[in-house]
Amino acid sequence: MSEERLWLALDDEGEPEIFTSIQGEGPSLGAPRTFIRLSGCNLHCKWCDTAYTWNWASTPFDHLTGEKFDPDQERVSVSIAEIAKKVAETSPMGIVLTGGEPLLQKSKLAPLIDAIKSECGPVWVEIETNGSIAPPIDLCRHVNQFNVSPKLAHSGNAAEIALKADVLKQYAALPAASFKFVIAEEIDIDQVRTLVRDFQISPQRVFLMPLGTTSEAIRERSLWMVGLCTRYGFRFTDRLHIHLFGDTRGT
Ligand code: SF4
Repeated sequence: MSEERLWLALDDEGEPEIFTSIQGEGPSLGAPRTFIRLSGCNLHCKWCDTAYTWNWASTPFDHLTGEKFDPDQERVSVSIAEIAKKVAETSPMGIVLTGGEPLLQKSKLAPLIDAIKSECGPVWVEIETNGSIAPPIDLCRHVNQFNVSPKLAHSGNAAEIALKADVLKQYAALPAASFKFVIAEEIDIDQVRTLVRDFQISPQRVFLMPLGTTSEAIRERSLWMVGLCTRYGFRFTDRLHIHLFGDTRGT
C-alpha cells in the first residue's frame, strides 16, 4: 500500500474529515456518499464555508467572518493507505473528493482512488473543484463526475486566477464535468451566461446554486433563482446539507 501522503482537513473531534452523508449539491444531490475533505485552496472566496481549509493566520485574505485558522490545528498529513482503510470502514457507495481544492494535490489523487478501489471494490468517484486547476489525464480515467464550480466576481477572487480560459476549456470538453455557479444576486447571471457562451457549455450541464449558509438565506435566493433557471434553461441545485445539518463540519 502507498506511503504517499495527502493533507486532509480535521473535523470537530480532531480526526481527518472523512464522513458519510448525502450529497447536498449538484447532479448527485441526495445520493449517499463518503466525503474526503482535502486541505488547502488556491482561491480565497470571501464567503467560503470551509475557510478552515485555507485561511491561515497571518495571511492577507479577506473573509466575511474575519476568522483566521491555525494550520497545525486544522489539517493533518495522512497516508494514502490510511485514507483508503478509513474510507473502506464506511462501506461507500460512492466517494467525493472535496476541499478546499482537491486538485492542489492532483498527483496523488489517482493513486488514492486506486487504493480506495482496491480496498472497497468499484465505487462511483466524484471530485469537487473550483475549475482553476486542470485535471491530469490519468486522473480523468479514474473519475465518474467532476463537479466544477468556477468562482464569479462576487467571490472576491481576481478573474485571471479564478477563471482561466485554458483550464475551463478542458473541463468544458470533459463529458464527466458539470458546472455549478454560486449565485448571490440576479446580476451574477450575466457572468454565468458569458462563461457558458464562451466555453460552449450546454445549459443542461449548468447548475445555479444559491449563496447561503442558512436555510433562510438559501430559500430567499432560491425563490427568484427559479426564474433565472426557467428563462435560460439552467438547472437549480439546493444546498440540502445546510437545511438538514446547518453549516457544520463532517456533514
Ligand atoms: S474555491 Fe471553494 S474551498 Fe476554495 S475558497 Fe472558494 S469556496 Fe472555499
